[in-house]
Amino acid sequence: VAKKSHHGYAVYQPELDMHSPRQLSLMSQIEEAMQLEQLALYFQPKIRLQDGNVIGVEALIRWHHPGEGLIPPGEFIPQVERSTLIRPFTLWVIEHALMQCRQWQDLGLPTKVAVNISARNLLDSELPDDVEKLLVKHRVTPDYLELEITESAIVADPGRALDILTKLHDRGVHISIDDFGTGYSSLAHLKKLPVSSLKIDASFVSDMTEDENDAIIVRSTVDLAHNLGMNVIAEGVEDRETLDILKVLDCDYAQGFFICRPIPAADVTEWLRQHTP
Ligand code: C2E
Ligand code: CA
Ligand code: CA
Ligand code: CA
Repeated sequence: VAKKSHHGYAVYQPELDMHSPRQLSLMSQIEEAMQLEQLALYFQPKIRLQDGNVIGVEALIRWHHPGEGLIPPGEFIPQVERSTLIRPFTLWVIEHALMQCRQWQDLGLPTKVAVNISARNLLDSELPDDVEKLLVKHRVTPDYLELEITESAIVADPGRALDILTKLHDRGVHISIDDFGTGYSSLAHLKKLPVSSLKIDASFVSDMTEDENDAIIVRSTVDLAHNLGMNVIAEGVEDRETLDILKVLDCDYAQGFFICRPIPAADVTEWLRQHTP
């Protein structure tokens, strides 16, 4: 059961349906879905607020299920994240994102790709080597790959996360903190992590034109990021007003339906042709 919050985001309630027949059935089909290429990556552009130019795209998984149609990630990612399948799954996503990245470079549209990484991936000491192999295999330089990590993923085992993220960063991969402001992460940890940008959670961004407190949180996060030498990106930008305020608040980048929805790779290629300077 995915309940809609007042922001229109699906809130997953694990205690209700983690073991429901449907969830278990989906889990048993995910490996096959990877092999049969029923999974597909959509991509959502991120732009620089100052000039509107594209700075990269975020890969978002979609499952074209033969019987159920399009299944959104909120309905199967939480289960995959709790299982050992998360390792092959994440590597599948990274590999497909890099293949697409390579293709855009070959078309003269070099574009950074961001991939979402789960908490459990940050307990996997092989991750840096696995990522390196995929970069070499697909001839993509590490600075074209960004990994988005939530605060809660780091909190699970900060020491191990720091070790893994440092190895990735040392190889040139960019790290960003996703959903910033929604999880507990101490500034002491944040300062130590090799993070290049913070993503302000959509829950603060989507209401900031009406809710003064949200606007204050966004402003504070922009200042915090800049004071720590990081870039900052606002997600969930759904209208022009929000975009304009973010510019005034000196936010660096933005992402959201107002700019572009997550779209299939072929459509992104077209979008990039129009937005690459
Ligand atoms: P996320 O990483 O926070 O991704 C942003 C979500 O917000 C995406 O939902 C995106 O479609 C949606 N979104 C983007 N702009 C707007 C907007 O302006 N308004 C609104 N209301 N929504 C917007 P999506 O694609 O359903 O993904 C949901 C979550 O599933 C992601 O949240 C991420 O946590 C997870 N996810 C998606 N793909 C992957 C993946 O490949 N691996 C992992 N581990 N998690 C993934
Ligand atoms: Ca993300
Ligand atoms: Ca997010
Ligand atoms: Ca999220």
